[in-house]
Amino acid sequence: MIDVNRQGEVWVFAEQHDGKLEETSIELMSKARHLADTLKVRLAALLPGDEVRHLSTELIHYGADKVYLAEHPLLRTYQTNSYAKVILGLIGKHKPQIVLYGATAAGRDLAPRVASAAKAGLTADCTDLQIGTHKTAKDGEVHENLLFQIRPAFGGNIVATIINYDRWPQMATVREGVMPMPEPNPNHHGVIVTEAVSLAQDDLPIEILQEHKRAKKVDLKAARIIVAGGAGVGSKENFKLIWDLANCLGAAPAATRPAVDLGFIDHDHQVGQTGTTVRPSLYIAVGISGAIQHQAGMAQSQKIVAINNDPEAPILGIAHYKIVGDLNEVVPKMIRAIKEKGV
Ligand code: FAD
Repeated sequence: MIDVNRQGEVWVFAEQHDGKLEETSIELMSKARHLADTLKVRLAALLPGDEVRHLSTELIHYGADKVYLAEHPLLRTYQTNSYAKVILGLIGKHKPQIVLYGATAAGRDLAPRVASAAKAGLTADCTDLQIGTHKTAKDGEVHENLLFQIRPAFGGNIVATIINYDRWPQMATVREGVMPMPEPNPNHHGVIVTEAVSLAQDDLPIEILQEHKRAKKVDLKAARIIVAGGAGVGSKENFKLIWDLANCLGAAPAATRPAVDLGFIDHDHQVGQTGTTVRPSLYIAVGISGAIQHQAGMAQSQKIVAINNDPEAPILGIAHYKIVGDLNEVVPKMIRAIKEKGV
């Protein structure tokens, strides 16, 4: 078990693939910077990989005071055992008080492994993090400067705040896209701490012979305009309306979970709690009721247009422009108008 270290640093696992930082790690830097400033401790990025030193400067520009650089050829491609071993070693050595991971495929795999080996707590899929004080109900003991790990629970029906006052480091994975992307500051200075890594192929149960990467079909996070369709669209054939409207606006097509489950469109397009979190300039929701799990992924869009034939649909409650009507009439009219008048 790792001792509670109130002077410990705040750490972000800087996930990289092929020498490029994962966006979620960069998003985490802004929140982690805020947490470190509140606690008056240093913010450090933990950078395992092979030939990734060039990313240290990038991390410093995104707010890291320190980068722990752990390079080794066996860290070139993410593997649970090698990464967990290196990170556990560094946690044991430096005793951070908080370690944050992006809730990416690798982060979701790595963080529980580290947590269980370090006998630390872990909250998965947080949507916010804050520093706060907690008084235990049992004995009234007051714990200051704890990490409040905030996430939807019970199918998104409540927002739970989870704390961990005695099994440190406090660890959380944070959903992609929920923290705003910080601007790099080339005037921010930090130090690079090169850590010795001792790993052998025998430490790893898997030897990677070849890699095949599946490209994502759509980059919803980067889209400025999104046209999303829900179960109300009715069929895969009718989902062509969503594609057509998206095409004439230069938008990315997206969907709710039922629309994905019904096979209208691929899962890469899903927005929401178990899909992608987006914050485009314009989000057009077509035949979408606006369940809390869908809103979790799109409520921060700058402008929301909703088309729904039910005036009581929750999506209309958060929409800036509400169109109550049959999507089969409204969407073709919109496409015609856009084509005639241009946008
Ligand atoms: P519905 O709720 O069925 O709504 C369809 C809407 O279309 C209705 O409002 C209806 O009035 C309207 N409509 C029907 N016909 C027309 C028409 N002709 N013209 C205009 N409007 C019409 N959901 C997600 O989207 N993303 C997630 O990531 C996600 N994760 C989840 C995770 C968990 C743990 C759970 C429990 C659920 C999750 N869900 C998620 C599902 C979520 O609870 C809702 O079921 C879902 O968002 C509803 O999708 P929908 O709006 O397409 O369908």
